[in-house]
Amino acid sequence: MPGRRADVKEIKARLDVFSIISRYVTLTKSGSGFKGKCPFHKDDTPSMTVSVEKGLWHCFGCGEGGDVIAFVMKIERLSFIEAVRRLAEEVGMSFDATEDGARDELRSIMAEVANSFAKNLRSDAGEKAREYLLNRGYPESCWMTYGLGYALPGWENVKRTFSKHGEATLLELGLLVQGENGIYDRFRDRTIFPILDLSGRPVGFGGRAFEGEPKYLNSSQTPLFDKGQLVYGISWARERMSQTRAAVLVEGYTDVLSLQQADILNAVGSMGTSLTQGQAELLKRFVDEVVIAYDQDAAGSAASLRGMQILRNVGLNVRVARLPTGEDPDGLVRKGGAEAMQEVLDAALPFHEFFIESLKARHDVTTVRGKERFLEEAREFSQAIRGVVLHNEVVRLISDLTEMRIEFVRNELAGKPQSRSADGSARYEMEHESIENDILSLVLRGDLPWGKVSALVDPEDFSEANRPIVSCLQNGLTDLSEILAELDEEGARRASFYALDDKPINPEIAVREAVKWIARLPAIEKRLLELAQMIKDSAEHEDWELWNKLVRDQAELLIAWKRAKDATGEGMHEQQDHEQQDHEQQDKEEGSESEGS
Ligand SMILES: [Zn+2]
Repeated sequence: MPGRRADVKEIKARLDVFSIISRYVTLTKSGSGFKGKCPFHKDDTPSMTVSVEKGLWHCFGCGEGGDVIAFVMKIERLSFIEAVRRLAEEVGMSFDATEDGARDELRSIMAEVANSFAKNLRSDAGEKAREYLLNRGYPESCWMTYGLGYALPGWENVKRTFSKHGEATLLELGLLVQGENGIYDRFRDRTIFPILDLSGRPVGFGGRAFEGEPKYLNSSQTPLFDKGQLVYGISWARERMSQTRAAVLVEGYTDVLSLQQADILNAVGSMGTSLTQGQAELLKRFVDEVVIAYDQDAAGSAASLRGMQILRNVGLNVRVARLPTGEDPDGLVRKGGAEAMQEVLDAALPFHEFFIESLKARHDVTTVRGKERFLEEAREFSQAIRGVVLHNEVVRLISDLTEMRIEFVRNELAGKPQSRSADGSARYEMEHESIENDILSLVLRGDLPWGKVSALVDPEDFSEANRPIVSCLQNGLTDLSEILAELDEEGARRASFYALDDKPINPEIAVREAVKWIARLPAIEKRLLELAQMIKDSAEHEDWELWNKLVRDQAELLIAWKRAKDATGEGMHEQQDHEQQDHEQQDKEEGSESEGS
């Protein structure tokens, strides 16, 4: 059997990216590539860049991007396999992944491997994994139900045991990895959670490490497994989902297992918080409502809010459960039992209420600046709402929460977005983000070896959104198309942006900034953000003693912040920002003295 991953590479190499994209978009020459109006959003200025040489496209307006397969998938609404098959025809190749015989053979290999993982779990070597599962509350009786297993330590167990199927096929199934120094097992010394398709056949694996990173490792995209088209546990949940027309969407494998164990049988896992269109459409086949139960930090993140909007856009009713802070569904079930979880699910908020609440949690609406930023984000959200009733409801909620007059809110939400005023936290986010972008651009353009970055900056300090790309780089992948194959839609969007962004960046300066912003200051910055929230809370509770103490802490921390930054030689405009911060600090103190006394 020919290696299909190799086929895809071959097909891509033969495609004329320019002529394919030109069928949908008028491309004009610009620098070393082409520009055109993006077909995926209302684009007045040509925001889409195409690099024929790199085989990539990216829209700097809406953020869509990827390789030519991703373009065809998106514009023709095809699955990965369908798009590849169509493109293969164009270059006179046949792509046999959809042929039943070939797929069946791949499926039977996956089933064999899943069985061997399950057998390992019961062997002497599997003791650690058995202990882990028992401690998590998964008794032996459920190992079989969920197909749980264990991948042995060592680099070549799967590679050797299944060598009869050929390395190319095992690579293609994502069971092996091509590294710089050869081909080796992807899953090593991990507890294995098979990912099953709708019919309950294993198509991929999730592996949990006992120590070290990444804690969870998924199969890569393969002819059988497309993470963006599947939710974990769908074969167990589909029946109950159809009966209740509702699904409970959690993040991780253990969340699903714990809920299933607690008889919440319509629980499925999104395998990450950034949902895709494909996942939304899959759920829509079974349910009308999705209750999201992510831990609170994850739920309120931008990626997760965007995912929830994707669910709404396919016509699903979305509610968001509010778990106790720091708790995930797995933990809640273990501590409070099924009742505690059910209570939280019953009290889930309608999406728009959750959205507005999470905005309020992020912005201090008692300050002018906080209000401005709150309204700015709310504006984008409210402008996407079609129904008048819901729109009015949103206006009313915001008015209640922020104590701004209804008419004012209505006008503000209808207005144009303004530029964000830069205070400490917003500036920090922007700064951190732009430096990460610079570093990843340099690396993905081939202007900076990853080793140089990882030697200075802990890969874990990269933001969550960039983590998948960082982990590819950590695993030694250098080839762009291989990196893209490992990423989901959102990851591919980012990678294409980084690789095609042609802004000039000085590698030396970028690395220096990265050390400063990503590695050291963030700790201080993070604490400052926490303090701001605590100060706000203490004022709300009129605990002026605590408030005073916190404000003193904050003042000290600001000095440390300044010192840390001065030590690295900041320019003039930074200095002014600090002074501005100090003034704000004084204003706050003066303002609240009168409030407090
Ligand atoms: Zn666009």
